[in-house]
Amino acid sequence: MATLSGPQTQISDESLGELRMIVRGDVLTREDPGYAAVRPAYNAMHPGRPALVVRPTGAADVIVAINFARANGLVVAVRGGGHSVAGLSSVDGGLLIDLARMNGVVVDPEARTVRVQGGALIGDVDHETQAFGLVAPSGIVSDTGVAGLTLGGGEGWLRRKHGLAIDNLLSAQVVCADGELRTASADTNPDLFWALRGGGGNFGVVTSFTFRCHPVGPIVAFAGVFHPVEDAENVYRKFREWAATVPEEISAMIGCTTLPASENTPPEIHNRPFIVTGALYSGDSLEGQKIIQPLREIGTPLADISGPLPFAAVQAAFDEFFRRGTLRSYWKSTFVEELTDPILDIIMDKARSRPSDRVFVIAFQMGGAINRVGAGETAYSERSANWMISIDGNWADEADDDRVISWVRDAWAEVHAHGTGTQYLNFTGVEGEGVTAGVESAFGQNLVRLAEIKAKYDPQNLFRLNNNIVPAAGAGI
Ligand SMILES: Cc1cc2nc3c(=O)[nH]c(=O)nc-3n(C[C@H](O)[C@H](O)[C@H](O)COP(=O)(O)OP(=O)(O)OC[C@H]3O[C@@H](n4cnc5c(N)ncnc54)[C@H](O)[C@@H]3O)c2cc1C
Repeated sequence: MATLSGPQTQISDESLGELRMIVRGDVLTREDPGYAAVRPAYNAMHPGRPALVVRPTGAADVIVAINFARANGLVVAVRGGGHSVAGLSSVDGGLLIDLARMNGVVVDPEARTVRVQGGALIGDVDHETQAFGLVAPSGIVSDTGVAGLTLGGGEGWLRRKHGLAIDNLLSAQVVCADGELRTASADTNPDLFWALRGGGGNFGVVTSFTFRCHPVGPIVAFAGVFHPVEDAENVYRKFREWAATVPEEISAMIGCTTLPASENTPPEIHNRPFIVTGALYSGDSLEGQKIIQPLREIGTPLADISGPLPFAAVQAAFDEFFRRGTLRSYWKSTFVEELTDPILDIIMDKARSRPSDRVFVIAFQMGGAINRVGAGETAYSERSANWMISIDGNWADEADDDRVISWVRDAWAEVHAHGTGTQYLNFTGVEGEGVTAGVESAFGQNLVRLAEIKAKYDPQNLFRLNNNIVPAAGAGI
């Protein structure tokens, strides 16, 4: 098996037998029938071929798996939902700890909190919380893992009213590199709690998260309006004007792409480039529809699917276009203070010149509750920008890898030159750049503290398949 120090190591039948005896979940080698059914990674560029997979049923198995990895010096990957755009939950030859069986979700409707195990997907959480008219803010595609999303920040349709996923995190339970299960909250191990809120999978395996929920839904006002790309000038500028006037209950976006035919989308947008404006109002649905109305009156749309819709349906609306293992992906993002004219010009130019149909050029409205948290209050440091621009390269054919990746990099560099200097690590590809790519700019002044906390909880950098923070020279626990 692949080791942290480089040379391969052989795991004896005896050690494997002992591991199988102690672990209550699955221990799978490539020869086991269950191996092929392990939850696949999202990014088709990184299917991974681990030598060994442990699928824990709870924290006890996670502890065993980590102790096994440490004792044998193994390269270890941790998979929550497997949606890492950079393929960071995939490994060749090492140990994969796949948390798919740990997808339990327990809502406390009175306290308005939800406890979520480390392998749950957004859809698992929305299903349980919506039964009580509650939402724990997370992300947009329901097949995405809550764990990786949260550990990197987590932005979704409620972000401006209720903040990022991390801004609603009350506590987490984490198995650290020494095999100890720790609680991280404002009162217990507050340094770990600070680091988990944006610092990624660097500090251990999170076995459960407890989030604050908010009353939203089940019916919400949603806008989804599709325009011909030829009308970009008008649509982008009017969208910007409208977005400047809306309350924090609205979180909006504007994006450009091309999608294949589907019975779930209007025929008018099939297989042709379009601009989509989207928004969700996290409050009274009737009030929301009034606020969204001007967005629906921009230009002459190709199609308009806006209306009062179930929140859970909105969350799953894009799922079919992001089926795991079907697309190769390389994304890069940057934050900007405002959508200035020069930035809009670049975005429109990139929208028109996308190198492949499934490439998205998106502007997400940020600000509001996100920016009321100080840059040093959580590891996630970007708390001033009002927009995030994401260039999402998605394509099917391996022959297009170099062409699309270099286009994304060039497009990103043009926008980034106008940005705050930060980027969103959950949307950061690392093809050839290495796992520390983007870490410095994403964390800014928080990186020094993060490296110290990394040295405390993972001095040997056992957890290195992530947006990696190199441990500072310092003592372990
Ligand atoms: C189609 C698509 C849509 C997306 N939409 C959004 C969105 O709306 N908002 C948003 O903010 N982001 C979004 N993302 C980005 C997403 O947040 C990241 O890809 C995130 O890493 C996914 O989490 P995961 O658990 O599925 O990832 P994984 O691939 O399982 O893991 C990603 C990283 O987190 C680590 N990790 C995973 N689980 C744990 C755990 N339990 N404990 C410790 N470390 C762990 C892994 O080791 C790895 O380094 C989207 C991504 C895709 C592909």
